[in-house]
Parts: sequence; structure tokens; C-alpha cells
Amino acid sequence: MRSIGHFIGGKHVTGTSGRTADVFEPMTGEIQAKVALASRAEVRAAVENALAAQPEWGMTNPQRLVRVLMKFLELVARDNQALAEMLAREQGKTIPDARGDILRGVEVVEFALGIPQMMKGEYTEGAGPGIDVYSMRQPLGVVAGITPFNFPAMIPMWKFAPAITCGNAFILKPSERDPGVPLRLAELMLEAGLPPGILNVVNGDKEAVDAILDDRDIKAVGFVGSSSIAQYIYERAAATGKRAQCFGGAKNHAIIMPDADMDQTVDALVGAGYGAAGERCMAVSVAVPVGKTTADRLMEKLVPRIESLKIGPSTDPTADFGPLVTRAALERVKDYVEVGIKEGATLAVDGRGFKMQGYENGFYMGGCLFDHVKKDMRIYKEEIFGPVLSVVRAKDYDEALRLPSDHDYGNGVAIFTRDGDAARDFAARVNVGMVGINVPIPVPVAYYTFGGWKRSGFGDLNQYGPDSVRFYTKTKTVTARWPSGVKESAEFSMPIMN
Ligand code: NAD
Repeated sequence: MRSIGHFIGGKHVTGTSGRTADVFEPMTGEIQAKVALASRAEVRAAVENALAAQPEWGMTNPQRLVRVLMKFLELVARDNQALAEMLAREQGKTIPDARGDILRGVEVVEFALGIPQMMKGEYTEGAGPGIDVYSMRQPLGVVAGITPFNFPAMIPMWKFAPAITCGNAFILKPSERDPGVPLRLAELMLEAGLPPGILNVVNGDKEAVDAILDDRDIKAVGFVGSSSIAQYIYERAAATGKRAQCFGGAKNHAIIMPDADMDQTVDALVGAGYGAAGERCMAVSVAVPVGKTTADRLMEKLVPRIESLKIGPSTDPTADFGPLVTRAALERVKDYVEVGIKEGATLAVDGRGFKMQGYENGFYMGGCLFDHVKKDMRIYKEEIFGPVLSVVRAKDYDEALRLPSDHDYGNGVAIFTRDGDAARDFAARVNVGMVGINVPIPVPVAYYTFGGWKRSGFGDLNQYGPDSVRFYTKTKTVTARWPSGVKESAEFSMPIMN
């Protein structure tokens, strides 16, 4: 059995805690590897390597930092197929979808190539008599990222590329469910010329996470995962004075106005609701048709599409989606379907019985669709994170606008309409962080910034884009006066610029 350890100080390190977790191959249901779960001592070893390496890296000139990323991009392109296959075999998504996971991470690495432009400080000549003022952005030192299972390439790159380009050393604690790709990315960074110790990967669970949170030498933590853990990380990180940005779960609504192009809308809902087996934080999980006629037209088109979705093993490039990540995840989603039935929602499509021929032990289920879901049902209030779409019928636009706005989560939302007025009003008033207009998964491009509101995001800066530079640097401001020509006398009142 393959064993997966840590990557510390530029070397593979075997785990010494004696604790491991199973890494499954979701498409067959088999255990393909054991991953080591780090102890506090192993996390500390990574921090010490990072502390030793960071000062020189932080002083390295921007061209050299950026050239490492350029080389890394070449290496990711060289190994793209192998990375996508490894990702699909550990996470469960299809290989074309795994390529998208890698590419959306690569886009943030490309963005990071321009970070030196954003690291420039400010300068005021003559802020007072003979006084110049300037500011500079400096790295924080050692920072950490804790990432989820559902994007094992994209989210680690969202975290480490900006952090490292700002001159920090990075400790990555990826999901223990699919650790292969994050480790491989760290190896590629080393091959690209990154000094050992600047990007360390420690695998692990709560013990490793708590060790990161309590370590006073780690100055910032970026987290992505479920909301209850995001809140926990945010609060515990603050206890040691860390900066923290913690992104959580989601319940993304799609509002369908009566004038929407229904064929385009149904295509969008099916892709965004069921792609990656619904295991995306920007998946659409609630469809809100406005008015009874719209709802009936939507259901008429949606039901046959969901019934004919093609589920396949991760290696089948023609499959619409593959298995879920683990048996526990599969059982959890099926339990939610049971809850929805008990709560009185109408199960219009039931995919629970789906079996994949030749892969009977894999973690598969077919798409499910609920109609007549109500606001007080658990299947509406909670994140299911599987191939289940809930239809909540709204009588008018105002009710449709209130649904995502009042929901505890506020990650993404979309409106489908041909009416520019309605779309503009919706974008301005909806209480959600990322909005799509006829775009079902509005993940912003890399030079904007990604972050949900309410229980979808704790902390005051978003990830990637300009916010990432603000998050991973601190500003130092210098006020300078040169003695020449300045009359010396002691000044006891608060200095002012006369
Ligand atoms: P998760 O919260 O179970 O795990 C995320 C990370 O936290 C992992 O590295 C895990 O090892 C660690 N962790 C788990 N339990 C912990 C505990 N008790 N104490 C400390 N650390 C712990 O999330 P997941 O199942 O890996 O990912 C799915 C979730 O992530 C969904 O809720 C999804 O919406 C969310 N997500 C959010 C975004 C976003 O940007 N908002 C993006 C992707 C995924």
C-alpha cells in the first residue's frame, strides 16, 4: 500500500505520529493509500524550516521570485495529464473537470506574476519642511493554508501562489482525503527553483490544524472548508494574533425570471447543480423560479435532463459527473434526501438507487431533484454538498430576491433573465458576495477576488486578486527628515506639519 508523508524543507518526510488515514479511490471504492497525520512536533518541524528559509526569500528581488512561478507554470503544463489523473482518482471528479480544477489554480499563479507591481509602496516628497514620507509592503513571515477536499489543486494554488510571491514561507495543510496533488505541486515548485523550506506540506487532521493555529510563529492562516470549522479556525487563530481569512460552505440560489431563456437556464442549472457531483462551493443547489408558469415550464424541462445525466467512473471523459469523495459523503447526501422526503418536499427525480456497472463498490449516486421545497426545511437551510437540487417556488421577484438575501450562507447567486433592469437591481441589492447574471457559477477571474458573505466567509479580506496582496503583506510607513538645513530644537508638543 502506498504511504503518503509530508514535504518539509524540500524533502519527503515519513510520518512519525503513528496515526494515518485512508485515501480512497472513489470510482472503485478501494483504499489506494495511507496518509500520515502529523503530530504537533511534525508541524513545528515545518515551521522551523520555514522560519529558517523565509528571511532570504523575503529579500529576493521580484524578478527572481516571479521566474520561479513562470517555471512552475511550465512544469504544471508538462505534467497536466498526470496531475489530472491523480486528482480524478483521489477526489472522484472526471478528468476534464480535474483539468478545470488545475486551470483555475493556474490562473491565480498567472495573476501572481504581476504581484511585484502591487507590492510597490507610496511616496510623498515634502510632506512637511524637509520631510519625505514613504511606505513599503513587507511579507508577514511564515503563513499557512488549510484547504478542503473538493479542489485539491485550485485552492492550494489560490493560497500559496500569492503568499509566496509576497515573500512569505508557506505551510500547506491540505485535505487528508486527497493529499496526492498538493504534495506533487510542492515538488514542482521545488523543481521550478523555489528554495527548500518556502513551501512545506504537512498532512493531517484536527491535531495538525490546531498545531498551526496555536503556533505563534505563523502569522496568518487562510482556510477553506465547511462553515463550522471556518468559524472555529477564525476564532482560534485570533487568539494568537494571526490574520485569518476563513471561507465556508454555501447554498447558492439561481433565480429564474419569467422572461429567462429556459433552454439556456436548464443547461446552466444542470451543469452547475450536478457537475463534480455537486461537490463545489459554487454549485447551484437551489433553483427559484418566479411565478407558477415559470416553475412548471422549468420542471417540465429539468426532470428529463436530470433523469438522463450520465454518471461514470472518473476516468470516463464522457461522463457528466463521477462518484462522491467517500462512502461517508455518499451516505450523508442520501440521508439528506430522506430528510427532504420526511419534511414533505416532492422528490421529482430520485437518483439514490443508481449503481455503476463494473464499479459496484464506488461512491456513486444519480442526480436528485426536489420540488416544493420550503424555507423552513433542513434541506433548504443546510448545505447538502451532493448532486441534489431543490426547487423553491417564489410568487414574485421580491420574494425571490429575499430568499438568498435572508439565507445564512452568502457565497454565490445567479439570476437568469433577459431584463437588464431586473438584473441590475438584483446585482445591487442581493445580500451575497458573488453574483452571476445568466452565469451559473460566478467564480471571479483571478485579478478580481473571491469571497462569500455571512456564514460563507469569516474575515475581512477575500482570497486571490488584490486582496491577497493586502492579506499576505504588512505596510510599513517611514517618515524621514535629513538634518541638512534643519534648525535643531527640542519639540515637546505633538509634531505637526507646519
Ligand atoms: P472540512 O471543513 O471538513 O475540511 C476542510 C479542512 O479542515 C481540511 O483540511 C480538514 O482536514 C480540516 N478539518 C476538518 N475538520 C476539522 C476540525 N474539526 N478541526 C480542525 N480542522 C478540521 O471541509 P471539506 O469537507 O474538506 O470541504 C467541503 C466544504 O468546503 C464545503 O462546505 C464547501 O462549501 C466548502 N468550500 C468552500 C469554498 C469557499 O471558497 N467558500 C471552496 C471550496 C469548498
